Amino acid sequence: MEKATEQKGRLIIVSNRMPMTVGIEDGEMKTGPSAGGLVSALGAFLERRKQQGTELSEHKWIGWPGNSIAPQYHDLVKSQLRQMGECEPVFIEEQLMDQFYLGFCNKTIWPLFHYFPVLTIYEEAMWEVYEQVNRHFCEVVAAQVRPGDVVWIHDYHFMLLPAMLRERCPEISIGFFLHIPFPAYEIFRMLPRKWASGIVEGLLGADVIGFHTVDYVRHFLTSVLRLTGNQHQIGRLIVQGREVQVDAFPIGIDFERYHGTACLGKVRKEADTIRRKLVQQKAILSVDRLDYTKGIAKRLRAYELFLERHPEWHQNVILLLLVVPSRIGVDKYQDMRSEIDELVGRINGRFADIGWSPIAYLYKNLGLQALSSLYSMADVALVTPLRDGMNLVAKEYVAARTQDNGVLILSEMAGAARELPEALIVNPNSREEMADAILQALTMPEAEQTARIRAMRESVKKYDVHRWGRLFLHAMEERSALQQVTVEKLLTASGMERLVSQFDLSKRRALFFDYDGTLVPLARSPELATPGGGLKDLLRSLASDPRNDITIISGRQREFLQTHLGDIRLSLVAEHGAWMRRRGGIWRKRVFPDHSWKTRIMPMLEFYVERLPGSFLEEKECSIAWHYRQSDAESADFLAQELKFELNNLLFQTNMEVLEGNKVLEVRAKSANKGSAVLAVLDDAAYDFILAAGDDATDEDMFQALPKEAVTIRVGIRPTSAQYLVAGQQDIGDFLWKLTKLTSK
Ligand code: UDP
Repeated sequence: MEKATEQKGRLIIVSNRMPMTVGIEDGEMKTGPSAGGLVSALGAFLERRKQQGTELSEHKWIGWPGNSIAPQYHDLVKSQLRQMGECEPVFIEEQLMDQFYLGFCNKTIWPLFHYFPVLTIYEEAMWEVYEQVNRHFCEVVAAQVRPGDVVWIHDYHFMLLPAMLRERCPEISIGFFLHIPFPAYEIFRMLPRKWASGIVEGLLGADVIGFHTVDYVRHFLTSVLRLTGNQHQIGRLIVQGREVQVDAFPIGIDFERYHGTACLGKVRKEADTIRRKLVQQKAILSVDRLDYTKGIAKRLRAYELFLERHPEWHQNVILLLLVVPSRIGVDKYQDMRSEIDELVGRINGRFADIGWSPIAYLYKNLGLQALSSLYSMADVALVTPLRDGMNLVAKEYVAARTQDNGVLILSEMAGAARELPEALIVNPNSREEMADAILQALTMPEAEQTARIRAMRESVKKYDVHRWGRLFLHAMEERSALQQVTVEKLLTASGMERLVSQFDLSKRRALFFDYDGTLVPLARSPELATPGGGLKDLLRSLASDPRNDITIISGRQREFLQTHLGDIRLSLVAEHGAWMRRRGGIWRKRVFPDHSWKTRIMPMLEFYVERLPGSFLEEKECSIAWHYRQSDAESADFLAQELKFELNNLLFQTNMEVLEGNKVLEVRAKSANKGSAVLAVLDDAAYDFILAAGDDATDEDMFQALPKEAVTIRVGIRPTSAQYLVAGQQDIGDFLWKLTKLTSK
């Protein structure tokens, strides 16, 4: 990482390709445009930010330059690109880049993530190249970033990079956006475990992970749960003490650009010229890159069915089929091209007549204005991918409809379908549905077209690429602000020394410790978490100082606490405050709930035990806990949410409440909380040092009830009302041993 300077933080974009292609000709650097939707979408977003001079308006774009550059030219290219502006090339041999891009990227991830498992190739050597290229990018990015920079990594080529970069530059703010679908776990798990875990853990190195739709978010979170056991809370995951946000950020288009281009006189003229050539025929437009995910062949077959069923439309309709060459050199893509050629030939051969062919087929890449003319003149856009992360063509068509008419037929398998419900939504696997939709589109009354297209245009205009980028970066800013709060709360070595000396100077101390997760590590089942000799020695040593009043304050039942800790000179609080045994005294009940609630909820809880193998009930006097740590993580999560909902309904306006702990749901009397218990202890004496440590939601009651001069420590990094955070249970042990050194004097 570069040294800190006075400069402002920059936005570092990392994508497979730089926004321009670079080559060497006669010893000189030559540049050209770089194709691709990502480059044009991001380019528009960055340009606008630069003009506005907003926060992070300065950016750097790191990517492959599109060609092998001989090593003797590396310095020349780097320095010229730096002079030109914002690009940093990652030099990689073309052969290796091919193995990477045409290998794991496009023979494994692309087909599998688009639900084509039969086309997916699983080869260890390809995975190794994927790792190697991710690592190489990591080196280049790490060498470029400065403190305060924000790194935004794009797409499926770099799913390992966030964690690699996190390891190299722990402090840096990292975002990741996936531009393709994230598949359901049942599909994702087809990857060998090592790769699937590698990808999930790789992505979790980011602070914000963005997808196009909530479905992809859900799929990813399920994969995280199944592969790592990490359970999210409203899209937030705690990963090694960091909070990671997983969210949907549907990408938009540069609306002004597409709308504005369609309004140009030149474009309108061209659109009129094409229209005149077609005479009375209605035009259906189909635009895609050549890719099996786009469903071009199925679309053609659906059009064939339409022509078969509706001879009245012969001579009166034409399909403008624009296919953009893509991934040339991959066999599958060549096969596809032949299939499309044959289908077009067959349909034209079958239905054409003198002066009319049902399909006009173009195999080329059009520039913005030519494409815009097609968008402007087409009566219908037929966008029916079998699977598509978003699909920008659909949005561009809507943006280009300046005359308030036109019909969009859109596949339900495209991410865009979530945002454009006014389109005619079809299943791309059904020829019938598509053929029917074509008829409906061709015969749709003008007023209905206007109503639908206007509604869609408003949405495409509002949720444009600028909003998408802004929302993503805003999420990153929020994360880093939160991260800052966490960093400020972290109990450092010097902070700990300060607390130790405060403790040393005090005359009367109230010390409150939660048990599970604070004094002992969490165990698979509660009876396994017994205090070891070391802990008991520690507590005995602390208790030996008459200035220390120790209270173990736990959700456990009193029998457990009595058996394991009853012989030490300390007070015990059981069942989250329902029972208390003062030092040397006897157990006393602090709350007297009406026990009829137990009979009411028991059958419901038992039903859930039956439904979830591995879960069990722990019945306490004032509460019942349903534990599910040993159960299948995904089913447990689902049933826990369901049970919580049902219990909350049942207990509404009663004096009982449901608490969600670490893989446990507990129903208890509201008054039996740790807050009221600590206050009862504080009444005993005038304490000049109060310390409380705990690790879960029940301990928050204690942190909140204590006076503000109390030292409160939460174990495990997450949002808390405690004053300090420590990463793990062991840190509390270390801290307490430091305190015991002072008690022996
Ligand atoms: N496109 C283009 N020239 C063409 C046809 C399409 O530049 O001749 C552009 C189109 O404007 C769109 C992109 O290619 O921005 C395709 O994006 P989409 O999300 O629809 O599909 P992808 O190819 O990214 O899977």
